[in-house]
Amino acid sequence: QACLERIERLDASLNCFITITAETALAQARAADLRIAQGDAAPLTGIPIAQKDIFCTRGVRTSCGSRMLDNFISPYDACVVERFNAAGAVMLGKLNMDEFAMGSSNETSFYGAVRNPWNTSTVPGGSSGGSAAAVAARLTPGATGTDTGGSIRQPAAFCGITGIKPTYGRISRWGMIAFASSLDQAGPMARTAEDCAIMLQAMAGFDERDSTCVDRPVPDYRAALGNSLEGLRIGLPKEFFGEGLDPAIAGLIQDAVDEYKQLGATVKDVSLPHMHLSAPAYYVVAPAECSSNLARFDGVRFGHRCENPADLADLYTRSRGEGFGAEVKRRILIGTYALSAGYYDAYYLKAQKIRRLISEDFRRAFEEVDVIMGPTSPSVAFEFGAKSADPIAMYLSDIYTIAVNLAGLPGMSIPVGFSNGLPVGMQIIGGYFSEDRLLNVAHRYQ
Ligand code: GLN
Repeated sequence: QACLERIERLDASLNCFITITAETALAQARAADLRIAQGDAAPLTGIPIAQKDIFCTRGVRTSCGSRMLDNFISPYDACVVERFNAAGAVMLGKLNMDEFAMGSSNETSFYGAVRNPWNTSTVPGGSSGGSAAAVAARLTPGATGTDTGGSIRQPAAFCGITGIKPTYGRISRWGMIAFASSLDQAGPMARTAEDCAIMLQAMAGFDERDSTCVDRPVPDYRAALGNSLEGLRIGLPKEFFGEGLDPAIAGLIQDAVDEYKQLGATVKDVSLPHMHLSAPAYYVVAPAECSSNLARFDGVRFGHRCENPADLADLYTRSRGEGFGAEVKRRILIGTYALSAGYYDAYYLKAQKIRRLISEDFRRAFEEVDVIMGPTSPSVAFEFGAKSADPIAMYLSDIYTIAVNLAGLPGMSIPVGFSNGLPVGMQIIGGYFSEDRLLNVAHRYQ
């Protein structure tokens, strides 16, 4: 009730929620009360959370931030939603996001941009901007996000909260609307690493309905938070501290690294020589996969359908033309071009080869260090409109996060201070399936 009241009071100006499910939330809360009274409470029983509107929720509109799915009521729950329900969590509603998760500022949402609670003339980041802003404004203690190229970490940084993108395959993508399937990964966003650990515990684990979900035991994330950091080897890649990084952010990262030295860590310079190729490779791979994934929105089976189509071609063309926004169309065009005969080898295949080189860079770095630290984004939250006319400038706000998705590694963002009154995030990257270590490292700082 307290969360719903706060949403009622504040969300008209923040625009975090696309759908508020007040009635079912209160019913779930009553069921949780009962469970607690019977002594059958799990760590998330009765805890309010909100879902990014990319996760299918049975009987509740699942829009993915798009006019295309404005009328779509999912007939089933995503695996992540099922797991939160089974854990007894209370779902407050569905959170605003960039259309089909394509964006870094939430400005591509059909439902209007979300505002950053720290300064409402700045963006919350994206695409999980509704999730980050809702947690920062204390509308909900936790929210889900998805991260294809930085969409959990960058908005977490812009809004001063904690978020983790787990290893690719750690959480089932079943029922999570696909953007770029080889990069997409769900994860928790909350105030602290401890809250993220509790949420990740519920979300992680094998699901046979996602063929890329990994069958591997899930560690006790919360238990790992107590580990000492004595002897932790931190790597600082020189490519993360070059031109384009706000010097105030560089200074705050250095201060945080110094704190880790106090906690017993050692620091070493490392190099990721192919880092500069990650954005170009990503902006071939992600649009290529999106052009294929979004082919299912044809106006026939679900989603927006145009009025009075003259024939099948007209139905497809107008339904898609009306349903998708400009950024989604741009990606579909780029992806279709990159995958077409004659260009496939020049673009898609080459991007895949770069992807391998980037993974190898990380593999070599992790032979020498346990975690890599650096900025999450080159700047703090920017003003609305500052980058929306220039897609390349917008794409570069994920310059430090994208490589992690290309390699499939886990990465997180934690708040480390403020610059000009706006939060600054530090990114912590680890080896495959080292979420327990990342959460521990983050927790010890917090
Ligand atoms: N900003 C990046 C993009 O627009 C990443 C988005 C994401 O991680 N979903 O593709």
